[in-house]
Amino acid sequence: MAEKRDYYEVLGVDKNATADELKKAYHKLARKYHPDLNKNNPEAAEKFKEANEAYQVLSDPQKRAAYDQYGQAAFQNGGPGAGGNPFGAGGFSGFGGFSSGEGMDDIFNMFFGNAGARGGRRADNGPRQGSDLRADVEITFEEAAFGTEKKVRVRREEECETCHGTGAAAGSKPETCPDCHGTGEIRMTQNSIFGQVVNVRTCPRCHGTGKIVTHPCHDCGGSGRVEKKRVITVKIPAGVDNGSRLRVAGEGEAGIRGGRAGDLYVYLFVKPHKFFAREGTTVLCEVPISIVQAALGAEIKVPTLYGQTTIKIPEGTQPNRVLRIKGKGIPNIRTGVKGDQLVQIKVVVPTKLSDAQKEALRKFAEASGESINPEEKSFFNKVKDFFDKKDKK
Ligand SMILES: [Zn+2]
Ligand SMILES: [Zn+2]
Repeated sequence: MAEKRDYYEVLGVDKNATADELKKAYHKLARKYHPDLNKNNPEAAEKFKEANEAYQVLSDPQKRAAYDQYGQAAFQNGGPGAGGNPFGAGGFSGFGGFSSGEGMDDIFNMFFGNAGARGGRRADNGPRQGSDLRADVEITFEEAAFGTEKKVRVRREEECETCHGTGAAAGSKPETCPDCHGTGEIRMTQNSIFGQVVNVRTCPRCHGTGKIVTHPCHDCGGSGRVEKKRVITVKIPAGVDNGSRLRVAGEGEAGIRGGRAGDLYVYLFVKPHKFFAREGTTVLCEVPISIVQAALGAEIKVPTLYGQTTIKIPEGTQPNRVLRIKGKGIPNIRTGVKGDQLVQIKVVVPTKLSDAQKEALRKFAEASGESINPEEKSFFNKVKDFFDKKDKK
């Protein structure tokens, strides 16, 4: 995927541009590169599409905020190229469906209305689903393994309780828009170099709803929606992992004109554990033992997520040997079947020995027929022989 230009750069505005400045800049570009005036000009078509896409994102305060925070990654639906996106192939699509395809439909509607090549108009004044929200939640290793409940704070647009979303003050009702007579669109006939073009555009007075509020509700200023801070309890199932995403249906922003509410997506971050690591449902840990325990075998206590357990170290255990404890891992998020715990044995060679200990080890060497300062064939000489032979081959 080619690197996309910065949306602000595309529109030629700076990062603090107001909604009005964005709109002006966009309209200027849309007029300049409109396909109607640039037949057989792929470069213009590309510019037109680019400007349209940039405006789609920046004109929506929520998408703009997402773009400012996450950049392009916020709008890419997966693909390994989603650079800087910590969630990899899943992509981050938390802020409602956006694709350049949809954007093109909008622009064609704006310029061609029902005559548009795509056929069929999106119902601008019909119900629209509310935006999705995202929340990041940090949990412990144990919480990921066993599940938990977390309170998540969200700030979201909700239907105004005073006017029940109509935007009209008590005792009044929204009225039919006089500019579009309730259709939500304005038709304009324009003469262009290709002859007459009928432009059908969303009515600016009622924003396509077909209704205007003459006495706006005091609580929402006529928008029918108010921002609320909510605390939502999210149930986190046992077996989730770092980067897991939970969808809490209907806890996003309120829908518009009777549309359903968006969803809340909770991204989980698991804090590292001081002793355990994990790979899927398998718990990993390292356990130190002495050289004596490794040589003679022993029974040692090992911590697990389910409390201490005793494991048997076989006689002659080599460093880094991995022992398995069945069923002490993490439950599978779907089946609940627990994984295993793998214990890697670290044989610790003592660094400080008393005289008595040194004497005991010398005796041990003697009993093994081992010379500590070998004059004759040492291990290193054997290694040297091995390489010498190899060279002669
Ligand atoms: Zn209201
Ligand atoms: Zn209107």
